[in-house]
Formats: sequence, C-alpha cells, structure tokens
Amino acid sequence: MRHNPVSYLIRCACIAILTLAACSSVKILVNGGEKQVKREPRPTQGGPYVLIFAFDGAGYDQLMEAINSGKAPAMAAMLGKDEGGGLYEHAYSAPNAISILPSTTVAAWSSIFTGAPPAQTGVTGNEWFVREEMKFYAPVPVSVEEMDDNHAMITDNLVGRQLKVPTLFQQAGVRSAVSMNMVYRGADYFTIIDPTDMVSLFTEFVTGKGQHSSGKRDIYQKMDEDSVPKLLDSMEAHGVPNIQVVYFPGIDLYTHLAPDALPMEVKYLETVTDPLVAKVLDAYRTRGILDQTSVLVIADHGHTPVLKDPHHALGADSSAGPAAVVQAAGFRPRKLVLNPGKDEQDYQSVFAYQGAIAYVYLADRSTCPDPGMTCDWKRPPRYKEDVLPVARAFYNSNKNGQPVPAMKDTLDLVFARVPTPSGQLTHEYKIFDGHRLVPIWEYLLFHPRPDLVQLNRRMRWLSSGPYGNRAGDVLLLSRSGLDHPIQNRYYFSAPYHSWHGSASMQDSHIPLIVARQNYPSTKLEQLVKGIGGDEPSQLALVPIVRSLLASEPPAAPAATPVNSGSAQSTTPAAKSQ
Ligand SMILES: [Zn+2]
Repeated sequence: MRHNPVSYLIRCACIAILTLAACSSVKILVNGGEKQVKREPRPTQGGPYVLIFAFDGAGYDQLMEAINSGKAPAMAAMLGKDEGGGLYEHAYSAPNAISILPSTTVAAWSSIFTGAPPAQTGVTGNEWFVREEMKFYAPVPVSVEEMDDNHAMITDNLVGRQLKVPTLFQQAGVRSAVSMNMVYRGADYFTIIDPTDMVSLFTEFVTGKGQHSSGKRDIYQKMDEDSVPKLLDSMEAHGVPNIQVVYFPGIDLYTHLAPDALPMEVKYLETVTDPLVAKVLDAYRTRGILDQTSVLVIADHGHTPVLKDPHHALGADSSAGPAAVVQAAGFRPRKLVLNPGKDEQDYQSVFAYQGAIAYVYLADRSTCPDPGMTCDWKRPPRYKEDVLPVARAFYNSNKNGQPVPAMKDTLDLVFARVPTPSGQLTHEYKIFDGHRLVPIWEYLLFHPRPDLVQLNRRMRWLSSGPYGNRAGDVLLLSRSGLDHPIQNRYYFSAPYHSWHGSASMQDSHIPLIVARQNYPSTKLEQLVKGIGGDEPSQLALVPIVRSLLASEPPAAPAATPVNSGSAQSTTPAAKSQ
C-alpha cells in the first residue's frame, strides 16, 4: 500500500460530519466525530437519487484516456459499451462540454453548483477583490500565502457566504450531502477529513514549501481516500441523501506538482480515483438503489503543463512583472498579502491571480494622489485617467518590452472596459488593441481564434452582471495552451509544473457524464442536449440534476438477466420509450 503508516495513524481519527441546514455561519467543529448543528435536516424521501462525482482538475481527454485504458474498470463499467458520439450503453458523455472562465477551481465549482455565471455568483476566482468592502478574498490563495480564508472555506462556509445566488442544494429542496467541496451552503450534511490536515495540505501546495511540494502523490491520494469513509459513515447514519456530491481535490493538487503532469494525472485517475468511485457505487449497489440513481461526473477544468521557473511564473516576484507595469503607469500596487497593515492601505491597484488569467482592479487615483492616502474604492476608476494607462502599459510591455521588459511576449490578450458605478450591471470586457477597445466578437471576426473556446460568451458570463466588477477593471490573459510550445506558456502564480485558467481547449474541455444502470442512455442524451445543447457548459449541471430529480423515471426493463447479451434486445424497446 502507499500509505505512510505514521501519518496514517496520526490522521485516522477525525470525522467531522455536521448538519449545515440553512445556517451559513455555523462553525465546523473539528476532531469531534459527528456533529449535528442547528435545525433538523430535511426528511429522507427515497429515490430518485443523484450521485455527483466532482473531479477537480480532470480534463476531458485525461479522464477519457483513463476510462478507455482498461485500467479504470469501475468507471468503464459505469458507462458500459461505447456506442459512439458520446453515447454509451448506460451513459451519455457530452463530447463538447466546457468550463466557465476563468477555468479555475473556486469560480468553476461555484458556477457548477449554482447554475449561474461568475458575474452573478460573485465568486469570480480562486481569489478576488471586493472593492466596495476594500477586502481581498483568497479561499484558494494564488498571489498571497496566508491560509486564513482557506481555513474559513473549509470550516466556516466562506464560499457559501459569498455566493449571491442559491446553490443546487437550496434550489432542489431535497436532502443533500456534500463531501469535501467548498460549495456546501444549503446542504444537510457536509463531510470532510480533519480540516487541519486539509489546510496543511493546501499550505504546502500554496507556498511550494514542504516535503510534498516535489510532487509526491501519497499525501493527496490519502486526502481523497480518507474522504470516502467519512461520507459512507454519514450515509450509514442518516440514510442515502437524494443528492450526494463526492469531490476529490487531490487530483488537481497532485497534477499541479507532478513533473509529467498529464500522464501522471491519468495514472492517478486510474489507480486512486477509480477504486474510490467503485467503493461509492458499491454502497449504492448493496442498498439496492443503484438503478434509481443517476450518476454524474463533472470537473472544474483541465490542466496545461508549464515550466516551473520564475521566468514563466509571472506572479513569482511581487515587485517585478505585473506589479512593475502598474507602477510604471503611476499606480501604487497593493502588497500581495491577504490583509495589508494599517500603514499599507494607500494602494491604488490590486491583483488577483487565476493561473492563466489575472484581474487588475484600479482605484480612481484622484481620491488618493499622495502616498499614505487611502483611495475611495467605492468609486469606480476613471476610464481615461486610470483604466487606459494600465491597459496600454500592459499592451506595450507585452509587445515591445516597454516599460517592463520582463513582460515581453508573455500575454495573449489585454481586456478592459468602461467602468460602471458599484451596484450597477457591469459592461462586458472588450479587447484592447493598442488604440481602442474592440468588442470581442468584432475582434474575433478579424482575428479568428478557434483556440480560445467560446471566448465571447464566456467572457460575457464573467464580466457582465451585478458582480462583474469582481473580475477587475483590466484583465490579462497569458500565453497558454497546448498550441504554444511549453517554453512560450506563462501563468500568474508561483512556479508550478502545470496550470489552468485560460480559454484554451485543454483548460476548458471538461467531462460531463450522466450514467444510469438499466436505463435508456438515449434518454440521458436527450436530457443533456435539451438543457445544454450540443456544447453544454458547467451551467447546465444544476438544471440537469433538478430535471433528473423531478422526472418520474421510466420503468427499468423488467428483470433482464445480467451478462446474457440482453443489451441488444433491450435497446430497441428502451429507445422507444
Ligand atoms: Zn480545480
């Protein structure tokens, strides 16, 4: 076995299961076994059941490679025979499903489990700045190292409290349980491994320091493995919930650090994830409810290998790179810390990093011209005096190395827009072409970019809405994607082996699978296509789940013998239903 016996013994004891009910401010008690908090959970209703496997960072190609390899038998059996075009014997796997932008963890899971785009959820990334509060949020820190918000994400519902729209668990109104995922507001039960262990894993990951930062996978594997007994215990104690989310964060954390990122992710999916899927499916099977259970698989984003060095990690040095650009444009940048000190409040610009994307928030500098003055962040920046100089400085640095040589040829596109006052719907981002702002659709007409998947639609989702200003006033998209040689790929963070966040196919193409045993898979295809069309996005998950819960399921074919070649004879009947 790959368990480190010492750490296994240290870690084995803790279960933190609790009832979250509607109270979002409930603190999770750690090391406390099972904890029920506040009001009674919703009653058990019997089927239908929806089981959602949420794989962090498992790109479409990597997951399908694992499933097709013959080394992931549980997932392969869940889908059954491949019938072409995404249709399987027991499943429909959307061939063209995509993520929101940024293709980054916290924003993506927030959109997946609310059905709303970032400009409506208010959660626009792994970290973001709320200018009206003059406050930086970093549930998964990228530009900062403090782990306070990460801890609050796990133990104090930080992401749920920031979401401006109801979650799936609130919308569906049925008993729901979430294992590990940061979006658990409105669920009845939330199960996690010891939060202290979880935060320390994230800490090693964020700081790049510690024994596991070199890409050893045992610790991430153990996090995923330890989470499953917790959720099964909860199920045993309270019955099977109508919605169960099974989230595996270890896939993503490991892939960021794995030297040969994509093949090593496939191996992880085969050898770690698949046996865990088998365990969970077995729990449904032994209770005799697998046939009443729709099983979904979804991911937040894929992964693109990058070079792990400070030259390609644009956020590695807090005084060079992007910070030097805004300084050259005459702005005082905010220190890259979660909470700047009392004497560090005079900043005029703020960065929030999302891997291949960076948000730049700008102040109206007329409110704080001199060092030591605090800007009025409730006001939007001025377009000509504040936004344009920064957009131009990034554009020129990228094009000709002026004023900042280190940024030359690192960016793909610079986005900006005319700011709107807080509380108003924001304008969608446009592309700065060196002279003016060009609508994305118009720019693409003259500069076709099929490598940037559905750029116009996804940038509108990110930037246009009541919370669109949480994606900054200037947005930078780094050069990225498998189309570029690895030495030409850049990202905003400390150095890693792999990143995501961009609009490229590799980062954006995600699995979206709906499976059900003894059920016509063509019905599943109709359902997914009816809701999400031919290119469904992550926003389709909530309506798909609600539809699966609401519809009276067609009767399963009557007692067909297993392994008798019956699939052939049942298919026409099934299709006619
Ligand atoms: Zn992720």
